[in-house]
Formats: sequence, structure tokens, C-alpha cells
Amino acid sequence: MAYPNWLSQRAYLTGNQLALSFGENEWTFAEVNKIALDYAGKLAHFGITEHSRVALLAKSNAEAVFVMYGCLHIGCEMVMLNERLAAAELAYQIEDAKVDRVFVGAELYEKVAAAQPISFEQLRQAPIADFHLQAEWAKDRTMSIMYTSGTTGNPKGVRQTAENHFSSAVSSALNLGVSPDDVWLCTMPLFHISGFSILMRSLVYGMGVRLYDKFDAKACADELCKGQVTHSSVVAVTLDQVLREIEQRQLRVSPRFKQVLAGGGPVPVSYLQRAEAHGIQVLQTYGMTETSSQTTTLQPADAKTKIGSAGKPLFLYQVKIDGAMSGQAGEILIKGPQVTPGYIGKFEERGVQEDGWLATGDIGYLDSEGFLFVVDRRSDLLVSGGENVYPAEIEKVLMAHPSVREAGVCAMADSMWGEVPAAFVVLDDPEVLDELSQFCREQLAGYKVPKLFRMVDALPRNASNKLLRRELKAWL
Ligand code: ATP
Ligand code: MG
Repeated sequence: MAYPNWLSQRAYLTGNQLALSFGENEWTFAEVNKIALDYAGKLAHFGITEHSRVALLAKSNAEAVFVMYGCLHIGCEMVMLNERLAAAELAYQIEDAKVDRVFVGAELYEKVAAAQPISFEQLRQAPIADFHLQAEWAKDRTMSIMYTSGTTGNPKGVRQTAENHFSSAVSSALNLGVSPDDVWLCTMPLFHISGFSILMRSLVYGMGVRLYDKFDAKACADELCKGQVTHSSVVAVTLDQVLREIEQRQLRVSPRFKQVLAGGGPVPVSYLQRAEAHGIQVLQTYGMTETSSQTTTLQPADAKTKIGSAGKPLFLYQVKIDGAMSGQAGEILIKGPQVTPGYIGKFEERGVQEDGWLATGDIGYLDSEGFLFVVDRRSDLLVSGGENVYPAEIEKVLMAHPSVREAGVCAMADSMWGEVPAAFVVLDDPEVLDELSQFCREQLAGYKVPKLFRMVDALPRNASNKLLRRELKAWL
């Protein structure tokens, strides 16, 4: 089974519609398609074919989109590298993916110099060679390969097929609805599924993308008011920053703006209330690299009664808890056409699916009405005197303390209980360190109260800004 080439099809069906807007420039689907064909020819000049695997390292700008779309026309596999990674981390992924060529955007060359990359500059100036245009895309063809954030261990290279991206886009549309003049504000990185999935929706829906090469709260708030963009994707922190801008400058969000998708973790209820006050609907989602972004979504109408929930699966997907009864916590399993067929490189042998179910490594539960609650990572669970303790629950309590800016909790060996929780905190006021034990005791069962509190300047985080609890353990 195959799809028609999405770029050619878009240029044919709605060529005059807005496809991309970046800085002061705008391109229609016909224009984007034309540029992408040129880039495909330039890529071919460097020997890239449908059998190649290339790595792309670039800022999330218009040129990066053109190179990606050129790759789609050729049919090569694209390994998306995260520009925030350090040189050694990039070298690991380039080695692991066994790529044929690395293409690198301006300013990033030095980070991957050892891989003898081709710069976007060289690519731009290359002649346009003949190439075989992929008129059809096989459903099971790997379009993109993305490395997971590496929160629980080494990053894993995830295959994402045409069908994965297509079903992700379609399921999201069944949930949100789409209209031809929608424009999605993209301030998420394109090398991450949160950003790349916006490009895929653009092609599948014929929707415009207003792209930024980095998140800028001020610009983002202005975009929401201007009346062009209709949707956006955020994480809790960026939502908070945008709301602050709107509040401080007393801006008025355009009535044309419809929804934000919020991923990566739960959004505090206070943010939802602030967003609502400005007419912004927030849909919380749960997903991962292995599921080409969102798998479950919480509708705004449920947000206040299902606080902390990631909602219900989108129409094409199924979610269940491994071996658990309703309300019991266990590993979250996911099934559907958005689930990756597998990893590449070192993790290739590790099947992701058993009977079509993806084992997520996340612990969660479904309540009596079938709403999913994500509790924590399975690998971070600690067992204290036979009781399960989830670091995320303790971190949430600590973060609610007005002087705690960041909190990270991990397991510490204990001769009596096996393991006990230990907490690392970044504090606005060092004096409160001694109060934290009592503060936790008021809200948590005794065995969940950390036996150690240590003040630090910053917590260890990866390039996606996720807390690395395994490094906290090493600090003990
Ligand atoms: P690695 O797999 O290498 O350890 P990672 O899992 O952090 O890294 P991603 O695929 O970027 O890499 O992140 C997906 C993970 O983010 C999910 O498995 C889950 O743990 C977390 N996550 C995503 N959405 C939510 C949410 N709404 N609530 C809680 N956690 C979430
Ligand atoms: Mg993961």
C-alpha cells in the first residue's frame, strides 16, 4: 500500500494555499514544492538516493524545511539530530545510525566536523542533478528517524514511517477538526516529533505553518493576537511564559485562535485557568517519539474534573495498563498505526511491540471512566519497605512550595527499608531547606517523605530539558 507523494499532491490540490511562513517570508505549497524539487536535485548531486540514510543537523528554519522536503522527494531516510546536543552526543547518534551523509546548517558545522558534513551552504550552491522522484510513498517506508530524549538511558533511534505520520495527523484532525485556512504556530524544534508532526499535519491537511527557529515568549504572545495563527504546540513552561506576556502586556488573544496542544507532562491547573481567562483552549496530550507524538488527549471540558489526566486515546489508538484492573497502576501499553515498527542501531534487536502493543516504560492507570493518568517512569520507581514510591509524586509536592524552584527525587539505598527517596532542590531561599521534610509530611505518607534533602544550584537535565534522575543517583 502506498500514498501519493504528499508534497506533489498538495501542490496539485491546493498549490496556492499558504504552506510556510518564516520571518518576513511566505511560501505557498506550489512554491515550497518547487524549492523542494530543487533541493532534491542538489541532494542527488551528492549521491543521495532513495537507498540513502542522511542525518540533518540544523536550526528549525525555512531552509531546514526545504532540505527535509527535498529528502521526502528523493525518498531517503532522514535522521533528525538535535542541535542542542553536545558534539559527543551527536557523534554517538551519527555512529549508531550509520548514516551515509551528514548535512549541517549554518553555525553548527563545528559540532559535527568529525563526520565531514556537507553544509547547507554547499548544498545551496550545488548544481541540480537528475533524480528519481518518489511519486508514491510506501506506507511502511521509514521517513524519519528520531532519537528519544535519552532520559532513561542511551537515546534510542526510532523509525517513523509514512503511515505513522499519516495516522498521527489524521487522528489529531479527527479530534481537533481542521479547516483550510488554519495556520499552526511552530516554536517547537523540527528535529523533535512535537515540531516535525506540525509539518506532517501541514502536508496532510493543506495547512499553513508559521515557523520560528526558537521559542520566544514575546513573539509567541504577539502571534496569538495578530489573527493569523489558529493553533500552537507548547509544554507547560512555555505556556506559562506566553501567558505571562499576555497578562503583563494586557494583550487580547485573537478570536481566530483556537487551541494549544500541550505535551511532555501535565499542565498545572492554574495555567489552565489563566489560559481560559484569555480564551485559549488547552488540550493536554501524552505521547512519545515511538508514537509519532500525541496518543491521548484531554479535552478542555474535562480538564477541571480530571486534573492531572492525559485524557483518552485518539480515535485510531488503544491504551491499556499491563495486567492491571481499573484504577490500578502498571505499565502503559499502546497500540495503533502511529506506533513505530522499531528502533535502529544498538536497540534494533529490542522489539518495541508484543502482539502489536508498545510497552512504553511509563507507569500509569486508567480511572473508572477510562481516563489515563501518567504516574512516572517505570525505571525511576523505588520500593521502600515493600511500598511503591513514585519520584514524580514527591517532586510535584515539593514544587508546590513557594520557595522551591526545581525538585528532583531518586532512590537512595537504605539498610532498613531497602530504598528510600532522596530529594535535590533548587531554592529561592536557602533557609527553607530545613522546613521541607515537615512540608512533605503534611501531604505525603511517611514512607514517601525523602530521608535526605540536598540543596543544589541546578538539576541535571538533557537537551530536551528533562530531569535526569539517574544522574541524581550518581550524586548520592
Ligand atoms: P528515553 O526514551 O530515551 O528515556 P524520553 O522517553 O524522555 O527518552 P521522548 O520520546 O522525547 O523521550 O519522551 C516521551 C516521554 O515523555 C514519555 O514516555 C513520558 O515519559 C513523557 N511524557 C510525555 N507526555 C507526558 C504527559 N502528558 N505526562 C507525563 N509524562 C509525559
Ligand atoms: Mg522513552
